[in-house]
Amino acid sequence: MEYNNCLICNKEKATKTNSHLIPSFMIAKVCSYDGSGKRDKEVMFTMTSYEDKVYVGAVPDTKLDELFNQEKLTDERINQELKNNTASKDYIFCPKCEANLSKYLETPYAEHYSKGKSIQSDIAYFFWLSIVWRMAVSRQFQFALPEDIESNLGECLNEYIESVANNQDVTPIIEKCKFSYRLLRCSSYLPNGLAYLGGRYKENTKILTLTLGDTILCANFDKQNTELPNDYTYLGLEDVIKSAPVNFGTDSQVCVNVENKAFEDAMKQMVKETAFKRLLNEKELADKIWNVVGLSGNMPDEIFQSFMERLYSEEEKQGDRKTAERYVQVFNETLESFGFIGL
Ligand SMILES: [Zn+2]
Repeated sequence: MEYNNCLICNKEKATKTNSHLIPSFMIAKVCSYDGSGKRDKEVMFTMTSYEDKVYVGAVPDTKLDELFNQEKLTDERINQELKNNTASKDYIFCPKCEANLSKYLETPYAEHYSKGKSIQSDIAYFFWLSIVWRMAVSRQFQFALPEDIESNLGECLNEYIESVANNQDVTPIIEKCKFSYRLLRCSSYLPNGLAYLGGRYKENTKILTLTLGDTILCANFDKQNTELPNDYTYLGLEDVIKSAPVNFGTDSQVCVNVENKAFEDAMKQMVKETAFKRLLNEKELADKIWNVVGLSGNMPDEIFQSFMERLYSEEEKQGDRKTAERYVQVFNETLESFGFIGL
């Protein structure tokens, strides 16, 4: 097999499989199906424009049974989709860089995140920078950053790791790095609240806002102008985010605490917004297929509503609802129920 160069050092071959884009200690906290926060208990639903992709770690059959009709669950689907973790990716890093990320950034940050130990400002800074950069370059989270920002972040991360390994001063690297961030957390929210991984990047303002379980990170890529625009919104939390201090990696990290109720409301808002966007996408797709089968105009609202009710029926297990076969089958069933035969 031909390997690409490692995205961090650009020297060694990227032979490492299952590189975490978001560190496993955060994933475990967000996605453990029993709320235990332990590893290998993750169940993750990835919602893209049209599909729900499901990832399951080493979960027991009883949990699988809740999500899928196991009689219909093929080995092929398990191997191709269900073990394909959205929060990790193969062949992007070399083993050495992967180990360094863990040693210099993730391990110390995990101690801070889970046990409240104090954290050095530069470690916190490059920890968050590395997550933003990894999520962006992976293209697995529905956003990308402009090329100049992506390369600035990647280069700075590489230089930081080398400097720390050689006991050198990291200040000049922080100075030339474009990244700064506001950080908010609702530490009492997990493991019982509905949790999400994802976010949005606004191209005109170059502001990236991520939700990572109980944490919200608002990243900015112009240190000269860190003010958030007046029309900036994020799930009703915009005022808290706007008033949060900006971290530049030089002074101790400041993380603003968010009240449980406010965080919960924001996550509910996220569900609403995602569902609305999903519905628009579903309508667009249904209209296309409507035309493909030879019908003119758009699918009438009444038929579309019936189609959606069948497609997202509670009777079908969550993991089975959105397979391609089922989509076609439900589409045909719906049309037949409205008297369209033999299309
Ligand atoms: Zn490397």
